[in-house]
Amino acid sequence: MTDASAPITQDVLTIPRKTSQDGKINLIGLTRVQLRAALIEAGTPEKQAKMREGQIWQWIYIWGVRDFGEMTNLAKSYRALLEERFELRVPEIVSRQVSEDGTRKYLLRIQGGHEVEAVYIPEETRGTLCVSSQVGCTLTCTFCHTGTQKLVRNLTAGEIVGQLLVARDDLGEWPEKGATNTAAARLVSNVVLMGMGEPLYNFDNVRDAMHVVMDGEGLSLSRRRITLSTSGVVPEIAKTAEEIGCLLAVSFHATTDEVRDKLVPINKRWNIETLLNTLRDYPRLSNSERITFEYVMLKGVNDSDEDARRLVRLIRGIPAKINLIPFNEWPNAPYERSDWERIEAFSEIVYKAGYASPVRKPRGEDIMAACGQLKSATERARKSRKEIAAEAGL
Ligand code: SAH
Ligand code: SF4
Repeated sequence: MTDASAPITQDVLTIPRKTSQDGKINLIGLTRVQLRAALIEAGTPEKQAKMREGQIWQWIYIWGVRDFGEMTNLAKSYRALLEERFELRVPEIVSRQVSEDGTRKYLLRIQGGHEVEAVYIPEETRGTLCVSSQVGCTLTCTFCHTGTQKLVRNLTAGEIVGQLLVARDDLGEWPEKGATNTAAARLVSNVVLMGMGEPLYNFDNVRDAMHVVMDGEGLSLSRRRITLSTSGVVPEIAKTAEEIGCLLAVSFHATTDEVRDKLVPINKRWNIETLLNTLRDYPRLSNSERITFEYVMLKGVNDSDEDARRLVRLIRGIPAKINLIPFNEWPNAPYERSDWERIEAFSEIVYKAGYASPVRKPRGEDIMAACGQLKSATERARKSRKEIAAEAGL
């Protein structure tokens, strides 16, 4: 378990590269400014660069093109130049599982042979893609499967955006070439950064990726359709409001520092009070309505009536919604899911205090695609049962 006085470091094993083995730069995931700079560097005359940037951007993000040869409004010689210098690489789908409820879990292979997961959750009025931001996670929340995975590297912006592109490929969401209403099909209408990893420990790549995703002449997802979930990396929260402006969810999970220290060890670095003080400013800074407090329901650990009352006292004054997440079990997990009556009683107290308190319906449980169950099965560097129990203080 992490020592309270020791800083929790970003123990990232490998530095992701933007170029592939043959030295080609992947254009996917570059921001517009980066894309233009790359085109100029490759010999595009500066005067033309803005126009070329716009054309290539649309091919990639409106039409879903992955082959420079298909970019028919560019001269053949220019397409050849692009081919020589650049690539359009997305993660490779290793496997796809479809749950009884329609949830799709993708196991994706990225550079270096690492694997991450992305989950598509269709609902009546929207389709949400849950994307990963890291391979594994440096944090060790004791109820989270991803936290038991040792191997960690940050995903590049291209690998984050790539998850969305791959999902759109699989769902057949790209418009027909030449279609006039390109926004008609919106199967992936929302993105949540709630997959593997702590997005705020990979801030720059997450920010760049979200700028690509939000761009109005491309994937065009509004910032209100993107939710970033953090365990509480306090120094990055204001930056998230200012530089991304998306909705924020916080993995709160406990109402005393004693319990939160155990469940979400980053609490030893930034405790409940510090976290809440930072959260108070978020809605104003990001011009969003409210923050989602995620609260995993663990039997006998954090699910008493007293916890519910303490929770509403703590967050008083913060525009909020409380998302109760029944614990999703995983092999050797040191916790159990709270009983339904308990979850309902907890929800009732929160609701009566004036907060929406939806209980998150576990989706894709039959394929281990639910929150906190993500961890590539092929990842061998995993912690033992003993290590997991020790971290949980059991
Ligand atoms: N690292 C970020 C985002 C990924 S986790 C974070 O911690 O917020 C996404 C959500 O799933 C978090 O709220 C997390 O606490 C929750 N979660 C993790 N493991 C879970 C489990 N086994 N059951 C239910 N929710 C879980
Ligand atoms: Fe990492 Fe989030 Fe899991 Fe904690 S809950 S270990 S921060 S992915």
